[in-house]
Order: sequence, then structure tokens, then C-alpha cells
Amino acid sequence: MEVDKMDENEWKYHGEGNKSLVISHVQHSQVLRFLKYPAEEIENPRQTSEEAFQQIQNIVDFSKNVMKPFLGEKYVHHGEAVKLPLDFVRQLSSKVQQKRPESRCDKMMDTFSGYALCLPNLTKLPDCHFSENRSPLCIEIKPKCGFLPFSRHVTKEIKHKVCRFCMHQHLKLANGKWKRLSKYCPLDLFSGNKQRMYFAIKHLLEEAQNNLKIFKNGELIYSCKDDKDHLQDLNELAQHLKPYFYPANGLINGHQSTKAIVSELIQVITAVLLSSSDSCRTGDNRKVHTSEGRGCCEASLLHRDMHRKGNTCLPKDCVLSKILQAQMLDNLDIEGLYPLYKRVEQYLEEFPKERSRLQIDGPYDESFLEKVRNCPSEDDGTVEYAVGKVHQYRVAMTAKDCSIMIALAPCGEDELLEPSLEIQPSKTRFAYAVSILDLDPKPYENIPQQYKLDTKIVNYYLKSTQARE
Ligand code: ATP
Ligand code: ZN
Ligand code: MG
Ligand code: MG
Repeated sequence: MEVDKMDENEWKYHGEGNKSLVISHVQHSQVLRFLKYPAEEIENPRQTSEEAFQQIQNIVDFSKNVMKPFLGEKYVHHGEAVKLPLDFVRQLSSKVQQKRPESRCDKMMDTFSGYALCLPNLTKLPDCHFSENRSPLCIEIKPKCGFLPFSRHVTKEIKHKVCRFCMHQHLKLANGKWKRLSKYCPLDLFSGNKQRMYFAIKHLLEEAQNNLKIFKNGELIYSCKDDKDHLQDLNELAQHLKPYFYPANGLINGHQSTKAIVSELIQVITAVLLSSSDSCRTGDNRKVHTSEGRGCCEASLLHRDMHRKGNTCLPKDCVLSKILQAQMLDNLDIEGLYPLYKRVEQYLEEFPKERSRLQIDGPYDESFLEKVRNCPSEDDGTVEYAVGKVHQYRVAMTAKDCSIMIALAPCGEDELLEPSLEIQPSKTRFAYAVSILDLDPKPYENIPQQYKLDTKIVNYYLKSTQARE
């Protein structure tokens, strides 16, 4: 990318989250991810552009030096910070404004610093050129936390029975964030049991919220209903998908075909989520046991029997297993972590200069990773222990909030692919690539808010479910 020859006509709106807005190149497989700020701060930025740059560099460093070692080289693309001409950025910002969902417009993209994160476009397959009828499909899943807390610091019994996502749904419904409850339960997705995973993905398709998006040739074709009404219709989705699963075949039609096509899609997604190319090559079939009774959520609508009989383990190197292991660095739960956060705060009050040695706000380098990896397992009363647990908690938070991108493209019988890049659970052979995105460090300062939110979610869940009984 030649930053001095940027032309806003070559870029278009791609999507956004709570913290950033993403623009994609119309031809090249590249995106620019801009940070967002509250609308009123854009004219009067609270940050200097140097600080904005530092924030983006922190994201790159954290993805590359901290998250990548946990999640695996092959899944993480850390990208690089780029400085862009301000007039290009401003023209881009006004160009994309009308494409943005209204619910996201309380924040605006950064038009003051000129810095952005440049990443590969993960909705497309790397190094592949496909003809029109073979546009890549991409399924984005934001899986959220896949285990029940096992910490002895947990005070509310319900947290050992119902998962965070399922409890949070009730509060989100009450707050008006969503209009319908999602039946998705992350514990089913992370179970490794194909039947449970099937239902988890089906429930995501039925109520996408911000946990599922589908792209075709880089364009969003399916996502949450509350943002854009016409985008969540399973029949319409099936029409898009039909050529992938039933090429040149008019035999199935109507309602039946939607069901059949969606089912094919779910099977492909499941197979990719469980694939672990390393074990293919080496014949290493070790599994990671995640549950022993902790892998089932009482709020999940699946029949109890299915929970009990299913094997609940994930292949060792599959993307779900990598994410789950990073999430499980949160082994004290916020209830056990919060007192340690306060220990750190108290220490910093006394010795403010220690903040940088303890790397509270970075840098996110090898030495930060060491602190995460080498934290003692027992509390020895030191500030080092407390900092280590706080750092681990922050890594886990990031892993609980990331997205999985699955890019798929059908390939012909004659095409030869590396075995690790190919999958065929349905009639069609697919080339695929899996990546993990949205790996920003979560601010240290947010820990007290996390503590309050946890209490609020649990109390509201107890209140609303008890009221129904
Ligand atoms: P959240 O609110 O989930 O924290 P965020 O503001 O941190 O989101 P991202 O999740 O990184 O932002 O990006 C927003 C959306 O942009 C993603 O959900 C995804 O659809 C799209 N996106 C981000 N990065 C890429 C990429 N490298 N390639 C393709 N699409 C991307
Ligand atoms: Zn659940
Ligand atoms: Mg995101
Ligand atoms: Mg994010």
C-alpha cells in the first residue's frame, strides 16, 4: 500500500464494532481498521495523534507478542500501524457515513490522527483467485466465553450452572439492546460434540445478534436483524448458498431446500471448527477435556440427555480449543481477581513509578508475556502475583471477545490442495482458512466495571428467572 497515493474511491465501508470501523479495498484483499471515538470528541480530541498511534501500536504488539503465542501462529494476523493522509481519511469518513448502522453512530471514526491498522481482508481466502460463481464465503462467529467458572471465589451458585452468555441475554433484553433472546449457548459450541455444536450454530443462524455474520465475496449477506431488517432471512441466505452446496441441481426446492442447505452449511462450519491441521499431519489425536460437568449450561435448551451422553472434548489444536484455553486463564473469576486488582492499585498508590516496571499499560512485549506465563499458581501475597493474575485475566478477556473468521471456497475435483487446507463434510469440497480477529488488549482500568457488571448480570438473571417460577 502506497500511503501517499491513497484514493478514497478505491475503498468502501466494510463493517464496525463498538471500538473500531473497518474499510475494505475494492480490489485488493486489504482492510483498514480505524479506532472510533465518541462523536463529541472528534472535533476536540482528548488524545494527541501520538497517543492514538500508541494505542494502535499496542493493539499490534498485543496481538503479535501476547495473543499469538496462545492462539497459534496460523490463526493470528497482527497487521501493522499505518499513517494515512488526513484529507484521505476525512473524505473516507464522510463517504462511509451513510452506510453505517444508526445504532453505531454515537461514535465516529478517528479523523484526527491519521493512524489506522492495516490488515489482510479475512473474509477472503489468501492467494486465491476464483471466478464469479466461486466467490469465497466467510462465516464470522463471535463465540464468547465457553466455560463455566470453576473458581472457589465464586459466591453465587448460579454461576456454576448457567453460563455468562445465557445470563447476560436477559439483561440485554431488558436494556433494549436486543429484542429477542438468543438460544445460542457458547458451551454447546465449545463442547466438541457435533450434535451440540450443530444446535449452537443453528441458534446463531436463527438469532444472529452480534455473534454471527456471513459474507459472500467480501460483502455482508447475513447478520443481525435489529440493525438492518432485510439481512436476516434464512430463505434468502439459502438462495445465496445454494450454488455452493447444490451446484447445477434443480431437484430440491421450497422450504425443504432451505433446511437442507442450512444443514449443509452447519456441517461445514462444524468440521472446520474441529479441524486441526497439525494433528492431521502428525497423527496426533490428543483431545482437550474441557468439562467434567462444567461444560453444560442449564439454560441451554438442548435435552439433558444430549449433554450427558456426548463426548465433550475438543481436538487439541483446533481453533475452538486454542480460544478456550486462553479464556481459561481467567481461573479466579472476576470475584477472585478483583481483590488482586485492588492490591495492585494500593501498591501503585504508594509506588507510582512501579507502574511501568509492572507493565500495567504495556509495552506488550516478550517480558509481558513472561509475566503472564510465569505467574505463580499460589498466592504468595506479593504484588507480582497480583499483577500476573491481572495480566492473565486481561488475556482471557480478549479471548472471550474475539471473532473467528472461516473463509471457504468450493474447489473442483481436479484442483490439488494441501490436505490441511481442504475439507469435505458435505457434497462439496472446500478450501478453507481460519483466523481469529479483534485481539485488542482490554484496559486495566475496566476491571472495576467488569466486577460491577458481573454482579448486575447475576442479580438480574436471578430476579427475572425467579419471577417466572
Ligand atoms: P467489538 O465490538 O466486537 O469489540 P471492534 O470494534 O473491536 O468490535 P472488530 O471486531 O475488530 O472491531 O471489527 C469489526 C468488524 O469488522 C468485525 O466484526 C468484522 O466483521 C470486520 N473486520 C474486522 N477486521 C477484519 C479483517 N481483517 N478482515 C475482514 N473483516 C474484518
Ligand atoms: Zn449457556
Ligand atoms: Mg469484534
Ligand atoms: Mg473488539
